[in-house]
Amino acid sequence: MSKIAIFPGSFDPITLGHVSIVKRAASLFDKIIVAIGVNSTKSSMFSVEQRKEWIENIFKDYENIEVETYTGLTINYCKKKGAKYILRGLRTSADFEFERGIGQVNFMMEKEIETVFLLTEAKYSPISSSIVRDVYKNGGDLSKLIPAEVIL
Ligand code: ADP
Repeated sequence: MSKIAIFPGSFDPITLGHVSIVKRAASLFDKIIVAIGVNSTKSSMFSVEQRKEWIENIFKDYENIEVETYTGLTINYCKKKGAKYILRGLRTSADFEFERGIGQVNFMMEKEIETVFLLTEAKYSPISSSIVRDVYKNGGDLSKLIPAEVIL
């Protein structure tokens, strides 16, 4: 049975922290789907097409990493894709508290799907997409925050 994990997020834009989690998880699962959640009530800075293209370029040499978009509940999308794992990254205790609620409710709804957490590499723990957007808006240096494939 093939082990498929979904890595859901907004990726607005994808950062070095996200990339590190996906690459480390690539050897733990047969396939990882980086899934951009499209939520009509949440506004984004970058278009979903743009976000998807960046992620595809970053992982173009990885045969077991795919990029897709989805709407609706993550567990429903997992069932559609035959994925039994949801991959998430943990930076801080605040992340843990946030993820705990989502992960426990997802498990309540669907016992067949486990959420798997990887701790961020220490050097990436201060990085978030919202900080990247702020630095970008103010013309700061993004080279230590985002991969070279994200051309802003
Ligand atoms: P969401 O919109 O669900 O918060 P994000 O795109 O912000 O999505 O994040 C997707 C996942 O990546 C989450 O599990 C988040 O905790 C994780 N993540 C975000 N930034 C980092 C980082 N710097 N290091 C490790 N994991 C991260």
